[in-house]
Amino acid sequence: LLQLSVPLNFIGFVYREIRQGLTDIEEMFDLLEVKPEVVDAPDAKELVIGNGAITFKDVHFAYDPARPILKGISFEVPAGKTVAVVGPSGAGKSTLSRLLYRFYDVQSGTITIDGQDLRTVTQKSLRKVIGMVPQDTVLFNDTIAYNVRYGRPGASEAEVMAAAEIAQIGDFIRQLPEGFETKVGERGLKLSGGEKQRVAIARTVLKSPPVLILDEATSALDTTTEREIQAALDVVSKNRTTLVIAHRLSTVIGADEIIVLKSGVIAERGTHAELLARNGLYASMWNRQREATQAEEHLKQVREND
Ligand code: ATP
Repeated sequence: LLQLSVPLNFIGFVYREIRQGLTDIEEMFDLLEVKPEVVDAPDAKELVIGNGAITFKDVHFAYDPARPILKGISFEVPAGKTVAVVGPSGAGKSTLSRLLYRFYDVQSGTITIDGQDLRTVTQKSLRKVIGMVPQDTVLFNDTIAYNVRYGRPGASEAEVMAAAEIAQIGDFIRQLPEGFETKVGERGLKLSGGEKQRVAIARTVLKSPPVLILDEATSALDTTTEREIQAALDVVSKNRTTLVIAHRLSTVIGADEIIVLKSGVIAERGTHAELLARNGLYASMWNRQREATQAEEHLKQVREND
């Protein structure tokens, strides 16, 4: 009986964690040692990183064979460039980031980094070169300093502080009674979504990975927070191969290429200006979002004048 109850408890724990929105895969593996979906090939090699160029070639993927999610996706993120993926909810945007992190393997086609098929390299060596800022960051029940330093455990105090500065969260941390030694997480100070994301950005700044995946939070952030996060992300992604999964179009204007995904295929691609000129799906998404933002700001003004 005892033997049975332990795994059941464990499953309950895992279930609760997932329910609480634990989507930081990197940490989920580290914390729980959950058996991943993907196993290394017996002859898997270490990924040899050069400039960090990413290629998706005719990628097909389905979580459930009866329901294809990605249907022949091809694009490149040249070394040091930023490609943003936008599109309607459920189009398969976050799935692309999960495949790049190799949480799952593609069913056909290939994903390569610097010419090496992800299926031929060890997951450990792959994840070492990728920094992931997930939609919803889970913090350890420890101090802010610990949570930032997790990006590079040997980092000095000055480096931790500098990373927090770049992530635009230094001022916030300093005004806390215990500063960097403030305990956060489930049993500590609860941070807002935007604050947690900035801690994740600081962690990534310290890790300084050649490849970056940014999966934007779907939840609405206020304009100031959004600007601060954007400023932080611009610094982190500069000259670093970056795949942005974007839910807000305001964050993709500067991308080198924008991929518009719809129902698992690339509907349009180009720069912001090219896509607006095309007057297609992207242009209509852009106009809709702009109208929504304007309505929101108008409403705020009305309330402030009351
Ligand atoms: P959003 O903008 O709403 O975040 P998205 O474009 O990022 O959407 P994905 O998260 O890639 O969409 O999901 C694509 C489809 O795959 C969705 O229909 C979703 O229900 C399904 N899906 C996602 N994760 C899983 C999973 N683990 N198992 C089964 N189906 C899944």
